[in-house]
Amino acid sequence: MSPEDMPPPLAALLELTHRCPLQCPYCSNPLELDRARSELPTETWLRVLDEASSLGILQVHFSGGEPTVRRDLEELVRHARTLGLYTNLITSGAAIDRARFEALAQAGLDHVQLSIQDVDVGEAERIGGYSGAQARKLTFAAWVRESGLPLTINAVVHRQNLERIDAMIDLAVALGATRLEVAHVQYYGWALRNRAALMPSREQLDRATSAVEAARERLAGRLAIDYVVPDYHARRPKACMGGWGRQFLNITPAGKVLPCHAAETIPGLAFDSVLDRPLAEIWQESAAFRKFRGTAWMPEPCRSCDYREIDWGGCRCQALALTGSAEATDPACAFSPHHAIMGLLAETESRAPPPPFVYRRMSAPRS
Ligand code: SF4
Ligand code: SF4
Repeated sequence: MSPEDMPPPLAALLELTHRCPLQCPYCSNPLELDRARSELPTETWLRVLDEASSLGILQVHFSGGEPTVRRDLEELVRHARTLGLYTNLITSGAAIDRARFEALAQAGLDHVQLSIQDVDVGEAERIGGYSGAQARKLTFAAWVRESGLPLTINAVVHRQNLERIDAMIDLAVALGATRLEVAHVQYYGWALRNRAALMPSREQLDRATSAVEAARERLAGRLAIDYVVPDYHARRPKACMGGWGRQFLNITPAGKVLPCHAAETIPGLAFDSVLDRPLAEIWQESAAFRKFRGTAWMPEPCRSCDYREIDWGGCRCQALALTGSAEATDPACAFSPHHAIMGLLAETESRAPPPPFVYRRMSAPRS
């Protein structure tokens, strides 16, 4: 397919900032966080929204870090809505007061995704590294429901909170959410650094899967539950980002355009910035997007596999992290010669006592 024939992405994830009052040890942000002084100014984000709309993008997700720490969020939401874009706020709910939330709703927000760390208050605040966060989150959820906006609860699950998965599902119902995303930690960024502290055992995973299946049946028509399983216990990889450079793009606080939020871990890829090139040109022509787009780059066994246009070979960042080569078949796949590594790591790490968390902080941790 020539670059001009490339269909537009469905959605853009705008990481407005890496600032966040929480410090989750599984945060998907990179270890080297962008500082406030390098964040794009309002006028550039407004132009980026114009370019996203012209490119044919339908949805924008305002994310971070914590996007509500940006004082211009209302202006960005309003502009996106004026352009006819569907607007979603992905938030911890811990850095916003009611007046601001109402201003955002007025500006035309379409949907809110609120993250929770646990249902046990002490554990939630230990995991998020922020005392007082849970009460703020619950109050925020009530504001969202009172406004009439649809609410999704994002629950990231791991070995240190999985035992309370039923209570997390009950909490999502009590908060009036219409959707719950139960996402096992994906091991990129800070989560990779904290893998041993987060890795669930096979038994924990199986119990969680049964709990989700039972809740889906019990709550059909009231609460939709999405379930993202951990690759380390899988036999087939996920179609990461719906395929590299096929459906999504990610823009960092400083303006780099990435095919996925962890792509900067891959050495040798140069990422274009919205400060230097129009978004459409980056989507169609950027070397980083073209590197793993489609199937031509694939080695065996992916190259001749019937699933190659279903999972697109899985995750490049995970392939790099576990095999040393971003070109390799994702080791989550049972056909990968490296597949046994994942099962062994999961088994070993989940059986050992969890090490202390390395919390997400602005200064990168020493390894
Ligand atoms: S995962 Fe936690 S630390 Fe990372 S942006 Fe979300 S709330 Fe903040
Ligand atoms: S060999 Fe490649 S294309 Fe086939 S299932 Fe595994 S990762 Fe997917």
